[in-house]
Amino acid sequence: MRAMVMDRVGGPLEVREVPDPQAPVGGVVVRVHATGMCRSDWHAWAGHDDVALPHVPGHELAGVVSAVGEGVKKWSLGDRVTVPFVCGCGRCEWCLSGNAQICPDQEQPGFTHWGSFAQYVVLHAADINLVAIPDSVSFEAAASLGCRFATAFRALTERARVCVDEWVTVVGVGGVGLSAVMIGKALGANVIAVDRNAGALEVAKTLGADHVLIADGSDIPEKVHEFTGGGSHVAVDAVGSEQTCQDSILSLRRRGRHVQVGLLPPVNGHPRVPMSRVIAWELDLLGSHGMAAAAYPLMLAMIERGDLRPQDLIERVIGLTEAAELLPTFDNASLAGMTLIDPW
Ligand SMILES: [Zn+2]
Ligand SMILES: [Zn+2]
Repeated sequence: MRAMVMDRVGGPLEVREVPDPQAPVGGVVVRVHATGMCRSDWHAWAGHDDVALPHVPGHELAGVVSAVGEGVKKWSLGDRVTVPFVCGCGRCEWCLSGNAQICPDQEQPGFTHWGSFAQYVVLHAADINLVAIPDSVSFEAAASLGCRFATAFRALTERARVCVDEWVTVVGVGGVGLSAVMIGKALGANVIAVDRNAGALEVAKTLGADHVLIADGSDIPEKVHEFTGGGSHVAVDAVGSEQTCQDSILSLRRRGRHVQVGLLPPVNGHPRVPMSRVIAWELDLLGSHGMAAAAYPLMLAMIERGDLRPQDLIERVIGLTEAAELLPTFDNASLAGMTLIDPW
């Protein structure tokens, strides 16, 4: 098969032929029809995750089951499937309670083993981790769900429990942030989008953002407090930097809920967080780490009804070679919307 291969951390990515994968016990091989490119792929390329080299990135995918391993009961050849980026072991107390997204023995395609920037990918513990794609949902839309969209969905529903008419501030409107804007509006909230990229803010407006704020070094929390009459009920850091984390927390009103979605690997130590405000205003700090397969039905139902349209977030579909050139620049690329790869 053809795959995008990373031979060293921070080095060039090469698209080349590698051996076809085999289905492991309890797992499947999926023929990849669409796979999303995400800032997490850039983190892995930059050396912020421990990956074994040579490595194939890619963790947001949809495709068709092309080989079934021993012991798999629920899936057969030809099934259209997607998968959360965190795959649980299926045996621990967290997996058994429907929380595979925090499984201590989790696998992540594109991190713990070769991922989906390839024509085929292996997925483990298929019976607990695979999700059937409804007929009305395209491979492209399904591929956009596994990481950023599902993470935003869980962040606003299960974690922040956003209510109708509340204010939601989304700091950073890349893929996960735009998803949060769309989901926030579908939940009946008022949404403020913040980004340094004016193009991304334009997209946020088309998705229904009530206000947009350009992050140009001015005081973002102060502006949010003005718009909302005392601060946002919920704020999401969808970037993952000390600055965006602080902006999100300081944008909250008293008793507000902050959700940290953007990754904050302690590359230069742990970030400074304004805990004095957290205490004095009784703020909730919530982490959100993907969403288990068990939680997909509610999200898929909203997509089938047309309340959520992940396909509207897709801005471009590119090939593996173009993607290999794009990935190293992805941290600073001012691209609006989601980028998908068709490995064929
Ligand atoms: Zn991702
Ligand atoms: Zn587990």
